[in-house]
Amino acid sequence: MIADIPLPSRHGPFEQGLWAALDRGELAHQHCAACDSWHFPPRWRCHCGGALEYRPVSGKAHLWSWTQVHPPVLPAFAPFAPYVVGIAELVEAPGLRMVGSLLIAADDPINRVQPAQLRIGMPLAAVVREIAPGLPWPAWQIIETEQPAGEAS
Ligand SMILES: [Zn+2]
Repeated sequence: MIADIPLPSRHGPFEQGLWAALDRGELAHQHCAACDSWHFPPRWRCHCGGALEYRPVSGKAHLWSWTQVHPPVLPAFAPFAPYVVGIAELVEAPGLRMVGSLLIAADDPINRVQPAQLRIGMPLAAVVREIAPGLPWPAWQIIETEQPAGEAS
């Protein structure tokens, strides 16, 4: 946990399914059966007009992009800078991307992963961690950190 971080609201009108899953240590996202599309962040209706229903997802993802964050940052994050933040694209929901910390071990601090360990497309798995009291949120654990054969490090 990081003290004094700004917290998202848990009381949005379309977010109950997201929070209920996170409270169980799982991920769920809105899905439209009419056009078979997934949505995040939570919204009222699909872009096709269809109703949205929360469905569980595995948390398996690929690294879509990442950046290294340097100061100035919010005061709560200053002790950790520089640190890497990734964008994870869920395997069963192509196009659904979530921003979060990248981890090697599930209990790592947010600044353990180094840019040299990352490559676009590498497999990730969601790890739901409590980022503040009563507030679970996914971080993304790297499944493997080896460089592809033939690539210089
Ligand atoms: Zn739709």
